[in-house]
Amino acid sequence: MKPSLEKLRKFFQLESERGFDNHAVLGGMERMLVHWEPEANKDGLPQDFILAVTSRMRDYAKLSQSSRAEIIQGLLKRMQKLEEASELEPRASSPPAETTLEAKKRAPSPPKPHEKIHPAVKADVTAIPLEPPGLEAEVTVMPGVGKRNAQNLERLGIRQVRDFLFHYPRRYVDYAQLKPINRLKYGEEVTIIGSVEDIRVREMRGGQLKATEAIIRDTSGAIRVTWFNNPWLVKRLPKGTHIALSGKVEQYLGRLVMNNPEWEPLDTKQLNTNRIVPVYPLTTNMTQRWLRRLIHQAISFWTPRIPDPLPPDLRQRAGLIEYARALEQIHFPDSWDDLAKARERLAFDEIFFLQLGIQRQRQYWKEQSARRFHVSEDWVAKQIERLPFRLTNAQMRAIEDMRSDLESGHPMNRLLQGDVGSGKTVVAALTALMVISGGAQAALMAPTSILAEQHYQNLLKLLAPSTETVLFKDLPREPFSAFPLDASEIRLLLGATPEGEKKQIRSEIESGAIKLLIGTHALLEDPIQFKDLQLVIIDEQHRFGVEQRAALRAKGTNPHLLVMTATPIPRSLALTIYGDLDLTILGEMPPGRKPVETHVLHPQERERAYTLIRSQIEKGHQAFIIYPLIEESEEIQAKAAVEERARLQQQVFPQFKVGLVHGRMRAEEKEAVMRLFHQGKYHILVSTTVIEVGVDVPNATVMLIEGANRFGLAQLHQLRGRVGRSAEHSYCLLIPETSNDLENERLQTMVQTNDGFVLAEKDLQQRGPGEFLGTRQSGYAEFAMANLTNIHLIEKARRFAQEIFQNDPRLIQDEHRLMREKLERTWKGRLSDIS
Ligand code: ADP
Ligand code: MG
Repeated sequence: MKPSLEKLRKFFQLESERGFDNHAVLGGMERMLVHWEPEANKDGLPQDFILAVTSRMRDYAKLSQSSRAEIIQGLLKRMQKLEEASELEPRASSPPAETTLEAKKRAPSPPKPHEKIHPAVKADVTAIPLEPPGLEAEVTVMPGVGKRNAQNLERLGIRQVRDFLFHYPRRYVDYAQLKPINRLKYGEEVTIIGSVEDIRVREMRGGQLKATEAIIRDTSGAIRVTWFNNPWLVKRLPKGTHIALSGKVEQYLGRLVMNNPEWEPLDTKQLNTNRIVPVYPLTTNMTQRWLRRLIHQAISFWTPRIPDPLPPDLRQRAGLIEYARALEQIHFPDSWDDLAKARERLAFDEIFFLQLGIQRQRQYWKEQSARRFHVSEDWVAKQIERLPFRLTNAQMRAIEDMRSDLESGHPMNRLLQGDVGSGKTVVAALTALMVISGGAQAALMAPTSILAEQHYQNLLKLLAPSTETVLFKDLPREPFSAFPLDASEIRLLLGATPEGEKKQIRSEIESGAIKLLIGTHALLEDPIQFKDLQLVIIDEQHRFGVEQRAALRAKGTNPHLLVMTATPIPRSLALTIYGDLDLTILGEMPPGRKPVETHVLHPQERERAYTLIRSQIEKGHQAFIIYPLIEESEEIQAKAAVEERARLQQQVFPQFKVGLVHGRMRAEEKEAVMRLFHQGKYHILVSTTVIEVGVDVPNATVMLIEGANRFGLAQLHQLRGRVGRSAEHSYCLLIPETSNDLENERLQTMVQTNDGFVLAEKDLQQRGPGEFLGTRQSGYAEFAMANLTNIHLIEKARRFAQEIFQNDPRLIQDEHRLMREKLERTWKGRLSDIS
């Protein structure tokens, strides 16, 4: 063993025995560096190892005992690896001159004298930057990276040296298993270490193909290895070279062979063989080998210089490894366990800093002032009395929430979450009325014109029913009296609204004659100017981006904001994603709602479904038939939908009228069909998309969903919510594409429960959170590591973020300085609205 390694081991052993009290070396562990570093250099220890030791020892005094233990154990592990590698080396102790030179060339340039590594111990603590400025250097500072390579790297998003650190592997290959050649088994992925006994280029297919063939021998045996199309290997790996090879053991003519294995001369740092090897996203003109080498260089030089943004105490309580180690291990893990720990640390940071930002955001809104709207208990009671139904307790509580928000003097920032049919509209209506009765205006934005129109109708009914409604004239209307608004004070603005009418709406909004404006994103695109917008309501808000929400908000001055969603999101996830919003849940359905009778049918039982549909239509009801989006292209999809409708019309339901909406139709076409269905002119509506069925047709009692296996449970539940909207008994029939048992088992959950939250939890476990996020995902797409299904981790990160925020909301304490910098960095350039 090299003397410097031997010495280090002794120090570390002693320090372990003393319980990591930093006294194994007189005056503290960092004292040993003065002598050790030159020795280590003399012994030719790898630069990255020397750097790891020196940088860690410099910080050692400041660390908690457990962090010290972690560091020393980590270093001991690395030392062991070093020794193992050198024992496998040929007895000849000094490496050939050529490779030393090469290793030097590859080694990253040493730090310039003025940029000290971790000046923390001696200098003022506040002087450590979050990231050393050198990380911002262009990639061309790396040896071997020229203009052309830089262009290629840019396509991977790697422009600066720091980008290497965050270009995480896509996956890993386990080449950590080292085996003697005579113990190899067919099919396994292994590493062998041996020497090149013979190597030559062989021409194949009459010279069209060149292959390099080698015989590799260790003390136990030999194996034939072939590389295709790499004739230069003959020069690179001359006879006698000691190499490590990793790859899959294959068979050729009854013998074990290896084709195109990863290779590495033993005297270089092993990045491609004999370890868990990272596999990176690449673009053309680059190889894994090349990128691994660059990333390794960046990692080994820079990570020891990157301080941990989390204070040691927090890190310890959260059970996390050090940041630098996590970065190093995510790229070149020592073991699967180390990899898992690295992932956990990086994922924690992602959620933690997002949460810190969300908390800050929430705080920010709470500090803003907004117009106070006060309504008396009497007033509320009177309004509730007017309604054609008794509010559920959940609705009453929700209205109380709205009332106290509007009174608070700070902007309301509330998410109203409730299953389909839980009655969110009436809550929104009364909230709008509170603001309107205070003399201001309200706007409601929905994602599609059908939904906007439906809201318009419902709000007219709820707030101004005395006037003739313009559309859906044939709808039955409850007799109300003495309503607070006139129909002319509620208006609808869509993209398709004729220009003349738009003009009129604009001027009435500006004058304040219109109190409540309902619409689609046309509300944003229109140059409309509100007189006094004080409440913004957004329905199905996950279909809007954060920018759109911010844009609508900007039409007023600090208006109150109410967002609504019918997607039941598990609470933990809601708190993470919507953590900046206050949450009101309508967890109760209006009484008398009958659960929808749900059945899973085998594909060959389709005729039974048709029979049920026929009998329901004969009773005067209507039916939906849903086809999922299967084809990539909308055009093919549209064609399939058209054909399917024709088949149903001609062969299955010739006596009924079958309508069709699909994604390729223009908005007006869709609406025309929907309207006809609503009016009962169609008995059956075939639809390819979920969006178009977001309409309320109480007379529809059957929902048949084809290809049900393609939908998430939450989505199926949404679809199912389109029926069961009247006193009539309703049915939901699910037909998967095949009678696959497992799939049917998942679908059986739909039979067992009508509770959207239960289904959402199941979905979250089975399919991940993508379904819940929608457009919002934009902010979360940046998560490279965090998996939002890991509720445990989310909870943990949120808890710690909350704790920190409560103790030091501005992060002004010394130990939170790096955290603050990282927070700024994470949130830089984002809109203030993040959710
Ligand atoms: P969603 O939460 O899906 O938006 P809606 O507000 O559209 O639900 O309400 C669904 C239906 O239930 C509407 O027809 C509405 O009039 C009715 N409704 C709402 N609240 C009640 C209630 N408390 N009692 C009876 N019916 C109600
Ligand atoms: Mg609704």
